Amino acid sequence: MKTIGVLTSGGDSPGMNAAIRAVVRTAHAKGLVVYGIENGYQGMIDNNMRILQPHDVGGILHRGGTFLYSARCKEFRTYEGREKAHNNLKTRGIEAIVVIGGDGSLAGARDLYNEFNIRCIGIPGSIDNDLYGTDMSLGVDTALNTIVNALDMISDTASSHNRTFFVEVMGRNSGYLAAQAALASGAEAVVVPEYKFDWDKGIKQLLDRHNNGYRCNIVIVAEGAGSVLEMASEVKKKAPELDARITILGHVQRGGAPTAYDRNLASILGRTSVEALLDGKTGLMVGTQGGKIAFTSFEDVFNNKSTLDPAIIETLVMIK
Ligand code: ADP
Repeated sequence: MKTIGVLTSGGDSPGMNAAIRAVVRTAHAKGLVVYGIENGYQGMIDNNMRILQPHDVGGILHRGGTFLYSARCKEFRTYEGREKAHNNLKTRGIEAIVVIGGDGSLAGARDLYNEFNIRCIGIPGSIDNDLYGTDMSLGVDTALNTIVNALDMISDTASSHNRTFFVEVMGRNSGYLAAQAALASGAEAVVVPEYKFDWDKGIKQLLDRHNNGYRCNIVIVAEGAGSVLEMASEVKKKAPELDARITILGHVQRGGAPTAYDRNLASILGRTSVEALLDGKTGLMVGTQGGKIAFTSFEDVFNNKSTLDPAIIETLVMIK
């Protein structure tokens, strides 16, 4: 194997740049040529790729987003699209790729391997932390810290005005960010897709707190757990004295400089992905389990769900 490609695909997450940098520099150290493919699989189809030298990835370690850009590409979901992409890889002599992205991006990599024998290793990049097979995905730690900073600010104004805030955070299938942020910010309640929330009990608890002199109530809602607008309007009707307000944090959660944790995880996974390709590995995602490097087959990633550690919710309930 002499030539590899690297791309970022699907939802961007802080740490992707650090991973690209580590892939490029490890590849060079091992005597490989490495192409950066822009706009995810779209760039593979459009032949939008260039050789990256070690200095090309200088100055990006500390930046959020992805300097190779990202995209969602419908055409790549078709065999014809992937054939076009493969022809472009073949012309350049690219025999293997590192894909940094979520489970959709890994599914694309699996197809490229199954249909065209392009070897691939995936690096989990997804702020939701919803990928099976790794303790953490790139960007999770940064997003969590962004959310906690925002919650600290919201609690200042909530307590000044004696209000209840419903704050929606990202997490379509996973309550990881919501639950961890609730614990880290001292929120009163968290609503996640993994657990059913008892609203009658929840409203009673919020009212009890309010009546006992607590001036700040914060309820964190994972986006996959239901509509924050409906929840707040229900509470407005049933308990107007809580003075319910809504904040949707939205895309601020995706941006920003990666934390040291995300940079270092990205660097280690980036390096390991290239070494794995050189060892002949393919069809695997590289992540960590119990803090140690662990490989998981794409099929296992797709067929299993990451679970929310019950200790987070139990601790929240115990110390609220
Ligand atoms: P993420 O990687 O963050 O989960 P998506 O699910 O949007 O994001 O996937 C990113 C891209 O990966 C898609 O736009 C598409 O090009 C490709 N992709 C996703 N699923 C498949 C699939 N089943 N087969 C082939 N390509 C896919």
